[in-house]
Amino acid sequence: MDLGIAGKRALVCAASKGLGRACAMSLAREGAEVTIVARTSDTLEATAEDIRRQTGATVTTVAADIASEDGRAAVLARCSSPDILINNAGGPPPGDFHDWDRDDWIAAIDANMLSAIFMIKATVDGMQKRKFGRIVNITSSAVKAPIDILGLSNGARSGLTGFIAGISRKTVRDNVTINNILPGPFDTDRLNANLEVSAKAAGKSIDAMRSERMASNPAGRFGDPSEFGELCAFICSAQAGYITGQNLLIDGGGFPGTF
Ligand code: NAP
Repeated sequence: MDLGIAGKRALVCAASKGLGRACAMSLAREGAEVTIVARTSDTLEATAEDIRRQTGATVTTVAADIASEDGRAAVLARCSSPDILINNAGGPPPGDFHDWDRDDWIAAIDANMLSAIFMIKATVDGMQKRKFGRIVNITSSAVKAPIDILGLSNGARSGLTGFIAGISRKTVRDNVTINNILPGPFDTDRLNANLEVSAKAAGKSIDAMRSERMASNPAGRFGDPSEFGELCAFICSAQAGYITGQNLLIDGGGFPGTF
């Protein structure tokens, strides 16, 4: 299927690794011009080179912290009017809520709620004027089924989810859709860091914890980031203009609910 987004400008936040990188790769493969953002220059440049080599796409890099106002200003200075915006940031650290103070909560809210809201605020009007826009927020399956050690994520992402539910119904008339994609366990650095914490707490080896977690998923494995990227590209396609305000789980069937 031709997704109809060749030549569109895609801005992918937090995209040097993992899920963001996979989204950038899939969008580039569909012919979009991509701008990718991450804080660490060397991994960002290596990813950009890899995407160019694999897809032939035009790739621009911006080394910036998307959770900060200055970082977002730097990103928007390089890519002020994207047609496709993928909001993403690193997840907050795992832990026990007794240990988190106001600064911990503000950092989680900045990264996993406000960064997406301010990026949307800066770009959505232009999308509506141009009568095309696709916004995807990478959130988490924790929005549907909380993960005990990830209280900061459970809380901050739920705030974003509530905001998106409202605004996504206001923009779709102009062919601007806003959706959240909710990853279950995907094999990335982030997952491996969380596995290490869980293994330590349970007094198990990381390998044992990894096997246990894989076995407990109905698919018997973790997701491959490329599977996430391909779903994201479809949600950003010309064909997906009637899908908005959704929370799309991609988790191997891990969420046990019927609806
Ligand atoms: P990852 O493999 O650790 O990659 C994170 C990427 O984001 C890196 O490129 C990192 O580069 C960049 N980044 C982090 N903070 C940033 C910031 N403030 N500004 C700009 N770039 C930033 O993580 P992932 O597994 O892809 O996870 C992506 C998101 O999905 C996270 O919020 C995570 O919590 C969530 N999630 C993941 C899973 C999973 O199983 N993987 C499941 C549920 C939810 P720099 O460090 O160089 O900035």
